Amino acid sequence: MLSNYGEVMENASLEHYNTYGIKTYSKYLVKVDSIDHLLELINYLAKSQISYLVLGKGSNVILPDTPYNGCIISLEKLHKIVINNEEVEVECGVLLSELVTKTIANNLAGFANFATIPGTLGGALVGNASLNKDASLYHYLEKLVVIKDNNLVTLTKDDIKYSYRDSSFKNTKDILVKATFKLKKGEQEKLLKEVTTIKEKRLQTQPKGVKSAGSVFKNPDGYAAGKLIDDLGLKGLQIGDAAISLVHANFIVNLGSSTSKDIKKLIEIIQEKVYNTYGVTLELEQKIIEWD
Ligand SMILES: Cc1cc2nc3c(=O)[nH]c(=O)nc-3n(C[C@H](O)[C@H](O)[C@H](O)COP(=O)(O)OP(=O)(O)OC[C@H]3O[C@@H](n4cnc5c(N)ncnc54)[C@H](O)[C@@H]3O)c2cc1C
Repeated sequence: MLSNYGEVMENASLEHYNTYGIKTYSKYLVKVDSIDHLLELINYLAKSQISYLVLGKGSNVILPDTPYNGCIISLEKLHKIVINNEEVEVECGVLLSELVTKTIANNLAGFANFATIPGTLGGALVGNASLNKDASLYHYLEKLVVIKDNNLVTLTKDDIKYSYRDSSFKNTKDILVKATFKLKKGEQEKLLKEVTTIKEKRLQTQPKGVKSAGSVFKNPDGYAAGKLIDDLGLKGLQIGDAAISLVHANFIVNLGSSTSKDIKKLIEIIQEKVYNTYGVTLELEQKIIEWD
């Protein structure tokens, strides 16, 4: 029974499990309550031939409009952070904002850059999320526990490939469970100021109080995706309730009841116009999910 592994919701609305707020459903949603139960759940689902997808905050995904005939696994209850001098052991359901607050409170430097990214540690490691190309969580990673082929394995940084907004976990069924980082001592006051500066800058440059999943496209080499789109005068272009943000052209926002179809159509139009004008292919930073 699914309830052996955590809290179960049936015909679960996923509207609050994706930051676009796409109104879609899943047959099951399980909030696993321990790493052991997560492993048992994966084996149970395999035996029962129920497909699954792990979601963090859903802040980097475009979910399908159609309901999922499988099981969404949420790691939101796996949010333990253990700090031992400069070593930080973190479960992958932890929100980055919480990780930043806790490490700074312990006078540890390295994570301030991640304060404004609204996802979980697991999602951030999968997509190698960062504020800029030079900062990466992997820089501080010592080891990572993952579920691979239904078993728990411990990886070191050398076992993992990562690059700009990419990692070897993308497009696999591996589940990231727990990471250990080695940080450096820092001055709390200075780190808090750094966070405030980053937050203020974000408020000025990105849409606020709207539903989005952050930057839609990766910045192609030598270009800023937002500038290419803005220069084409595409800000404000709208399909259904999905629109290119008036504040930042690399953001698509859901103005109310946008569907996944609307967002994907807008993406296609942008890619086509940018390619036809500049000969530049815009690659998605967000992940279009297809249920399996
Ligand atoms: C307002 C806003 C600002 C943003 N700013 C930034 C930014 O500055 N830089 C940046 O890089 N990103 C940014 N993002 C995008 C997003 O927040 C990050 O990519 C974030 O790290 C995604 O984490 P998540 O938990 O939401 O992942 P999700 O969207 O839930 O998942 C992303 C992918 O990872 C998989 N996944 C999630 N957790 C696990 C796990 N534990 N094990 C295995 N697979 C898993 C999912 O299946 C999915 O394929 C922004 C988003 C928003 C809405």
